[in-house]
Amino acid sequence: MSQPFVLPWASALWQRLVSQHQHSTLPHAILLSGHTGIGKSEFAQAFAHFLLCHHPSDGKPCGVCRSCELLSSSTHPDLVYLHPEDSGKPIKVDQIRELLNFLHTTAQQGGYRVVVMEPAESMNINAANALLKSLEEPGDNTLLLLVSHLPGQLMPTIRSRCQQITFPFPSREASVQWLIAELDQTPERANQLLSITQGAPLKAKALFQQDLLSLRATLMTQLGDLLKGRKTAVEVAEKLHKEDMLQLLEWIHSVLVDIVRLQADSGTECISNTDMLKMLNAVANRASASDVFNLLDQLQVERTSLLQRLNPNKQLLLETLLLSWVKLVR
Ligand SMILES: [Zn+2]
Repeated sequence: MSQPFVLPWASALWQRLVSQHQHSTLPHAILLSGHTGIGKSEFAQAFAHFLLCHHPSDGKPCGVCRSCELLSSSTHPDLVYLHPEDSGKPIKVDQIRELLNFLHTTAQQGGYRVVVMEPAESMNINAANALLKSLEEPGDNTLLLLVSHLPGQLMPTIRSRCQQITFPFPSREASVQWLIAELDQTPERANQLLSITQGAPLKAKALFQQDLLSLRATLMTQLGDLLKGRKTAVEVAEKLHKEDMLQLLEWIHSVLVDIVRLQADSGTECISNTDMLKMLNAVANRASASDVFNLLDQLQVERTSLLQRLNPNKQLLLETLLLSWVKLVR
């Protein structure tokens, strides 16, 4: 685990929880919900770190005690980070049973025991049912931190047993300042990254750091070339099918949403892909709204099948979507 930090837009929430802890009024279970890419996960991990530190001061972990040492080497016995065994798959009942065993033991470092579960909505029904009882009485000095960007998909009985906290969405100004400091980039670049990621600063940072901007640029060029008839769907699918398919689908989705917005005359300030405005306008002017919505539906179906199937034919999947993309303007 990297050093804990508190994102500026979450500092009030941090203070509130630290104060609850100091007054021994922290609940047993917290459901932390909010948009993706704005720092929920980092916040949950930092707060777990704070609770486990033996000598916190000023609302921060000390960084040098035995507990902090164990945390920095990711081997703390009293912290469980629970997530799906395979990305995009459910959290299974066996994982919850293991967790219950952990909750029945005493904290090895003599302090808190913390569970961070993410994304909590990925628990399947059996897993959620198995967890229910423990949410009421997880034992003393125990905190279950459920992190979710789709809290509506959690069973209501799970939600009602947690203190529900909405993680604050950062202002554009706060996000720009944070990104400039994190990435050492210009305000223009920070704004561009934030537009592409719908204002989510941690997503924007990842986009930059993983050098995804060049992949996005490639996709956008190919989408344009398809419309102009310079490339065929077969050629483009051949070129791109080995890339991160979920990421590609997310970008195509965002392009289609922009087109819907342009067709609805919502104004350009709510457009994500401002650098592609010319292409977006061209499609918005020529495509029928129902075709655009159909393609959005198709995209969602393909996304789900990508998450569920073990070995979907990604090349064929992309080719099919791109054919529909070309048909928008034919
Ligand atoms: Zn410490």
